[in-house]
Amino acid sequence: MSSPRTSAIKTLPAQTIGYTLRDSRYLNITNRCTLRCEFCPKFNGMWAVQDYQLRLDHEPTLEEIVAAAGNPEDYREIVFCGLGEPTLRLYTLLEAATRLRHRAKRIRLNTDGLANLVYGRDVTPDMEGLIDALSVSLNAQDDETYNTHCRPKLPGAYEAMLDFVKCAREFVPEITLTAIDGLPGVDMAACEKIAQRLRVGFRRRVLDVVG
Ligand code: SF4
Repeated sequence: MSSPRTSAIKTLPAQTIGYTLRDSRYLNITNRCTLRCEFCPKFNGMWAVQDYQLRLDHEPTLEEIVAAAGNPEDYREIVFCGLGEPTLRLYTLLEAATRLRHRAKRIRLNTDGLANLVYGRDVTPDMEGLIDALSVSLNAQDDETYNTHCRPKLPGAYEAMLDFVKCAREFVPEITLTAIDGLPGVDMAACEKIAQRLRVGFRRRVLDVVG
């Protein structure tokens, strides 16, 4: 899940699976999404984060993902991200995290929080010991505002995302909800209150800045 700083695709090199921003190593494992966010740059033909071209010509294999992590010990964290929803490749993601676990200082997953809805079960126990931190896109203070901006493909997405967070608290040590400041109708204070009520962290994001 991303809202990248974009630039023109025509000036960019071939697809990027692993890329470094600040001192984190990001892994771009799919372009598929459960949401169709109206603010998403990819729907406007913009597929780049800074100078990295994130449009994939194929979904990377497990071996390609692990190789793209480089030397995990050199980074503050490994982040499963991409211009898509990483949990749509949950089992590949978990296997990659297993392989990187002993070398990575920290493993974070950026997600829309809809994996339980997609897989029809609580997948959060699978993350125990593998994922250190979750950044979950809350994006709105209520179902209606969420549906307007995120346009989920599956019904019941907003409640499912909140339930996912409740379940994940038992298995992932650090959870942060995020919302993008400046989207029409999004009440940042109300979003932060939801995070407090769920006893997880909150981070305000700025549109078009990845992280
Ligand atoms: S979750 Fe939304 S913003 Fe992120 S890549 Fe998918 S459609 Fe775009």
